[in-house]
Amino acid sequence: MSLRFYDTRARQVRDFVPLREGHVSLYLCGATVQAAPHIGHIRSGVNFDILRRWLVHRGYRVTLCRNVTDIDDKIINVASAEGVPWWEVSERNQRAFTWAYDILNCLPPTVEPRATGHVPEMIELMRRLIERGHAYPAADDSGDVYFDVTSFPDYGELSNQRLDQMRGAGDTDSDRGKRDPRDFALWKGTRPGEPSWETPWGSGRPGWHLECSAMATKYLGPTFDIHGGGVDLVFPHHENESAQSRAAGDGFARYWMHNGLLSMSGEKMSKSVGNSLLIPEIVREVRPVELRYYLAQAHYRSVIDYSVEALREAAAAYQRIEGFVTRAVEAVGDVAPSKELPEPFAEALDDDLGVSQALAAVHNHVREGNSALAEGAKERVAEVTARLRGMLTVLGLDPLSESWADTGDSGLRGVVDALVTVALNQRQAARERRDYATADEIRDQLLDAGITVEDTPHGPRWELRNG
Ligand SMILES: [Zn+2]
Repeated sequence: MSLRFYDTRARQVRDFVPLREGHVSLYLCGATVQAAPHIGHIRSGVNFDILRRWLVHRGYRVTLCRNVTDIDDKIINVASAEGVPWWEVSERNQRAFTWAYDILNCLPPTVEPRATGHVPEMIELMRRLIERGHAYPAADDSGDVYFDVTSFPDYGELSNQRLDQMRGAGDTDSDRGKRDPRDFALWKGTRPGEPSWETPWGSGRPGWHLECSAMATKYLGPTFDIHGGGVDLVFPHHENESAQSRAAGDGFARYWMHNGLLSMSGEKMSKSVGNSLLIPEIVREVRPVELRYYLAQAHYRSVIDYSVEALREAAAAYQRIEGFVTRAVEAVGDVAPSKELPEPFAEALDDDLGVSQALAAVHNHVREGNSALAEGAKERVAEVTARLRGMLTVLGLDPLSESWADTGDSGLRGVVDALVTVALNQRQAARERRDYATADEIRDQLLDAGITVEDTPHGPRWELRNG
């Protein structure tokens, strides 16, 4: 069976054949670092990390370029609201993203370029586009440079739209100096108080789309294998990246892969949903490995409708896997992950990265392993565990992997929960006999141990205080 993926541009599943034998070049649109990451941002990191691990398992050398958009309208707005420089906002949030990728066991990209470090490459790309008649500096000398969408007959092909049905790009305050409102900004002329860089057409700052084209081709070459990102980036971001690079004469991406979004009750997650969806908050509910399992289990192209209940169910499903691996190793000693993977698992991942079906194979192994344990069939336990760990390694979910060792409380959280429950039951009993002094003393002792207790309609809830 061959490796195949759904290609957004072809609108069908295509066999994957890399440009260079044995090598895969992959560009993934990374974060625009105006805020700390929430669970929706991190999904694409997890999905494409599994793609990368699978390609590596299939014997490819993978070069992953994941950029950081460190200059943007939103970053400038946050900085001005806080009264700090734009780069302070970018630095702080980039660190928060790196931390989140790390605790979710996403392997670091081969290269992680920042937009503002690639202005010369962007100027060069604009120069090529202007020379070929696909771009022009704004007529009003504002310093804006626009891409002329009518000059490129394939404009709209990635997002499957016709130019005559498109509205204006709406990417500048007014359409200052545009020939056509649908033309998009490659470069935005200086506005007072904003950072700017010099170009032959005036000073200003890069447009988002131009950044990705310049960085992708710098690190991966004019033509590369796969371009990935969230499905919300197909238009205008990826359409514009593709148009400007191909109009300049580059082949650009050969396959386009897009992950589905995370929604709350069917609504696309926005920045305004609040702090409860930030990664540091979510990993108070479940462990990072359980969050990774939750984000990985749905097909990457499907929509995940987020709920805390679904998150907890995923955690419970992961604990069944982990529980077996722990008991198996106790019974038969350490078992190394097998490189040979079961056929149904490999076929599922070959077929457009079907992680859900691959996990069905994982759970079948857990069931088989549990009955082998019950029968005391040690050899079978060892075999099943080796295959299971092999599969979990490819998914970045092996409970015995060192990556999860320092994420803290593996197993211990359950112990603490049990101990706190004992204390809370005693507190409840004290209250029922109206012994409030004892009830308060129990609460204070928990507090001294760093545990805060909150009484909710569903009973008391505890958490560890930070710091
Ligand atoms: Zn991008």
